[in-house]
Amino acid sequence: MKNKKKIIISNRLPIQIERKKDKLIIKPSTGGLATGLNSAFDSSEILWVGWPGIVPKDDAEEEKITELLKPMNLLPVFLSKEEIRNFYEGYSNEVLWPICHYQPSYIHFDREYWSTYVAVNKKFCETALSIPQSPDFIWVQDYQLMLLPQLLRQENKELNIGYFHHIPFPSEELFMNIPQRKELIEGLLGADLVGFHTFADSQNFLNSCKKILNVPCGHNQLKHKDRHIFIESFPMGIDYDKFVHASSLPEVNAIATQFRSHFPDQKIIISVDRLDYSKGILERLRAFLTFLEKYPESHSKVVLYMLIVPSRDKVSQYKKLKDEINRKVSEINSIYGNLSWTPVLYFYKSLPFEELIGLYLASDICMVTSTRDGMNLVSKEYIASNTRSNGVLILSEFAGASKELVDALIVNPYNRTETADCIYQALIMSPEEIHERSEANRQIIQKFNVQHWVRLFISRLAETKAIQRDEWARRISDKVFSSIAERYRKSHNRLFFLDYDGTLVKFQNHAQKASPTVLLYNLLDSIIADPLNTLVIISGRAQESLSTWFDGRSYYLVAEHGIWSNFPNFNWAYKKGLALHWMPEVKKIMEKLADQTPGAYIEAKPYSLAWHYRKVELGLGELKAAELKEILNPMLNDYGLQLLDGNAVIEVKNTEVNKGKAALEIAGHIKADFLLAIGDDITDEDLFKYLPQSTISIKVGSNKSAAKYYLDQQEDVLQFLNQLIIKQ
Ligand code: UDP
Repeated sequence: MKNKKKIIISNRLPIQIERKKDKLIIKPSTGGLATGLNSAFDSSEILWVGWPGIVPKDDAEEEKITELLKPMNLLPVFLSKEEIRNFYEGYSNEVLWPICHYQPSYIHFDREYWSTYVAVNKKFCETALSIPQSPDFIWVQDYQLMLLPQLLRQENKELNIGYFHHIPFPSEELFMNIPQRKELIEGLLGADLVGFHTFADSQNFLNSCKKILNVPCGHNQLKHKDRHIFIESFPMGIDYDKFVHASSLPEVNAIATQFRSHFPDQKIIISVDRLDYSKGILERLRAFLTFLEKYPESHSKVVLYMLIVPSRDKVSQYKKLKDEINRKVSEINSIYGNLSWTPVLYFYKSLPFEELIGLYLASDICMVTSTRDGMNLVSKEYIASNTRSNGVLILSEFAGASKELVDALIVNPYNRTETADCIYQALIMSPEEIHERSEANRQIIQKFNVQHWVRLFISRLAETKAIQRDEWARRISDKVFSSIAERYRKSHNRLFFLDYDGTLVKFQNHAQKASPTVLLYNLLDSIIADPLNTLVIISGRAQESLSTWFDGRSYYLVAEHGIWSNFPNFNWAYKKGLALHWMPEVKKIMEKLADQTPGAYIEAKPYSLAWHYRKVELGLGELKAAELKEILNPMLNDYGLQLLDGNAVIEVKNTEVNKGKAALEIAGHIKADFLLAIGDDITDEDLFKYLPQSTISIKVGSNKSAAKYYLDQQEDVLQFLNQLIIKQ
């Protein structure tokens, strides 16, 4: 086998198995994902793990199915009836589905659900890892397997794991209601790349991570257990060419013509969805009723043709929904129908592919009114199939597709009047406008097809891994540490630049509380006990703080990013001639924002001003800091100021001073043959950049930095320094 396997894991394998008189008939079902994968990879490289959709009668049949699937590169995970009930129908569809579709009132929770969900995810994990060869990547699909990425990671840290969530991800306010929220979030964070259909879904997920794990997050990534995990949106497409090709087939056109002939005097509105409360079927019927009330001139001139594909009809809510649809359809038809016109035609069945395309081709309007939908492929299929671009798409703003197909008529399905007006607008739209809108949507669907989606996700997954590897290469491993220690031992004049907050001590909610511990004093004293060592504590703190804590000790101190220094004779002196006339104005602005932001406070230093927001509610602090930056930015040039966006602090100071310049000045006097600089903050980047190339620069945290190396957290700095000075 030349290439490594690419493993796809989904709840269902892409097949249908039928048992006919003890014979097993297997039919492949090529959904979008399979099509996309086959275009990106040689099919022999792909191995698919999933439930085969059948419960074997006995062990012999299980073995037989396994053997039959082997040549198709499919690896089955067998589930008992009880597991299907509790894992699939239960936790997946009665807890996760309603919460992700913003319908918490539909949640039904049995005690067995969660334990079975955990057990079945473990079963998938065991099966996937039973493959002897280590895979190129593992791509986990969808909400039934939210714990799987973490389970796989526990077994093998090196794996390259992607996860795609095919349904919406709810706002964190809603997600917080799930009792197992932490387990689910941590489950997904076992992946290296977590994908969603829309940007909003990815942000919802990041917000839940922030709240639940209390970790800082970037706009597309976060750090969890030593790894940077990327959270991004990849809107799924369709196999565009397949739909275009189908719509050119004579048999499909014949179906369309025949279908049209049933409605010679009417415009046809179609809708195609699975029976599901998230599809807004009742909302659509209500809007259609409002339309008929409001626009009597349209009577007898339009039909709503609804194809509803049977789904989950064993679940009581779905049965109830079906009954309600029946009632609503009868109500509309009995009010407005007559012998020659039935306003709503409703079919509860699924259609063969060619017939579905025929239906798309024949219809004047396609109506999608989902109250929540991860993507909604029907809307894309309708546009793709309608190659003459003569159909109008009415699309719910709550379907993921509405973020891409912006030239559709976008509606809020909860607003009946607006939706009714939209139907009318679609009916009277000029052919030119229909064509223009449809072509604009087509371009998007054609480019962002399912093949593009697979390639994009997989290449981003590879990039994610490369970013992680680069990061790990910068981390101070045992090997790197030994080489630093070796240099330390061989040197004769050593200079240490150590930042204070976040490097030597942990951040505290209030800056004054972060005073040095006895252990820290001992460590620093041990460093300078060696006559070959010179130690400089270089900080953004006010001179008074450093003076209170360290005066009388033989450490050099640099305060306020270089405004104050006690080098070279341990007497404090400040940089003269710095302009201060900007201070009152900046202070006033900072005070105004601090008054609006509970927990924010100003630290006024003689030559700089800092606006702290560590104690502010997560999210609000970042928002207000951004507002502050926006207000201050235009003033910076005029006053010759620099804005430092630090760790939960915005600091404004004169551009003439920074830690890099201050450190370089000291280094110029010492002529060290071993230079070490450690810092955690954006202000320490100057330190890393200004000091000579040979400096051993270390950042606390693995974020992007000019430093050569990094240590994971503040505690590691103390351990590193202790080991360094002991080792000689
Ligand atoms: N579909 C089908 N048979 C039918 C009607 C529809 O296979 O009789 C397909 C349709 O072509 C589309 C899918 O069902 O690809 C529905 O996908 P969508 O994203 O719209 O909704 P979902 O059911 O995934 O929530």
